[in-house]
Amino acid sequence: MSPRAARPRCDRCNLPSHLCLCAEIPRVETRTRFLLLQHVMEIAKKSNTGRVAALALANARLLTHGSPVEPFDTAVLAEPGTWLLYPDGAPAPPDAPAPRQLVVLDASWSQARRMTQRLPVLRTLPRLVLPPPEPGMLRLREPTHPAGMSTLDAVARAVAMLEGPEAAAPLERLAALRVQRIAECGTLN
Ligand SMILES: [Zn+2]
Repeated sequence: MSPRAARPRCDRCNLPSHLCLCAEIPRVETRTRFLLLQHVMEIAKKSNTGRVAALALANARLLTHGSPVEPFDTAVLAEPGTWLLYPDGAPAPPDAPAPRQLVVLDASWSQARRMTQRLPVLRTLPRLVLPPPEPGMLRLREPTHPAGMSTLDAVARAVAMLEGPEAAAPLERLAALRVQRIAECGTLN
C-alpha cells in the first residue's frame, strides 16, 4: 500500500480525515426517500460523497452495488413511485406525480452506465434529469461523475427540484464547504 493510500479516512463520513465534514453535516427532512446505490469501487475513492449525502438526508438509505459480501434485494428498486436520477434520457413528463423514492447512482459515469445494464429494473424507471449546472457555480470539476458533479452536488440539485430551494440550501452549503476545504488544502489526498 502506498503512503497516499494509507492516509486516514473518517469512519463516519468516509472523507479523508483532513476534509471530514462530520461537524457540519445538516439533517435535511424530505418527502422523497433517497436510495443511494453506491458502486463498491466508489467506497475507496477520496472524492466519494455518497456517505456524506446519506448522512445529511433524514430519509435516505445507502446500499452497495457489486459487493460480494453484502448483496441487496433489488426489489427495493421496483417499489411504486421510484425514479432514477440520471443525466440523460427522456425525463418523466412534467405532469407525472412526484417520485416517492429517487435512486441516485453513487458511481463514476462508466460505472453508472454499467449499473443500468446489470440492473435492468433501472432502465424501466422514470428519470429525473437535472438542468445543466450554472457557469461559475462553486464546485470541483468532477467530469468522471454522471452530470459532471459529485453525488453530494447532484443530490442537492435533485432536492432543489423536488422539494424546493429551502430544503436544498443546507446541502448546497455543505457541498460548497467541501469544495472550499479542498481548495484550502490544495488537494484531495
Ligand atoms: Zn467525518
